[in-house]
Amino acid sequence: MALKIVDTCISCGACEPECPNEAISAGDMTYVIDTEKCTECYGIYGESQCTGTCPTESIVPDEDNAETTEQLLAKFNRLHPGQAPANTDSWTKPQ
Ligand code: SF4
Repeated sequence: MALKIVDTCISCGACEPECPNEAISAGDMTYVIDTEKCTECYGIYGESQCTGTCPTESIVPDEDNAETTEQLLAKFNRLHPGQAPANTDSWTKPQ
C-alpha cells in the first residue's frame, strides 16, 4: 500500500528528498504523499526511505490504499519505464 503522512507532521521537509519516486510534496498544513507515485520503495530499495527520516513518526501505511507486491511492481514499472526492479527479494513492507 502507499504510505501517508498524518497530522502530527511538523512540515520539516526531511522526507521529501529521500523519495525515489518524487511522491512527497509540501501540502497546505503538512507534507503529503501522492498515492499514485508511492511504491513503498518497492523495486528500488529494500525498505521505505522516508519513514526513518521523520522526527515525529508521522509516515504510516495507508490502510485505504492496500496494494500487493504485484501492484507495487506495476506502479514501479509505470514510473520507471525500462528500469529493472532491484532489491525485491530483500524488501520489507513498512509497518
Ligand atoms: Fe517515496 Fe518510498 Fe516514502 Fe513511498 S515509501 S513516499 S516511494 S520514499
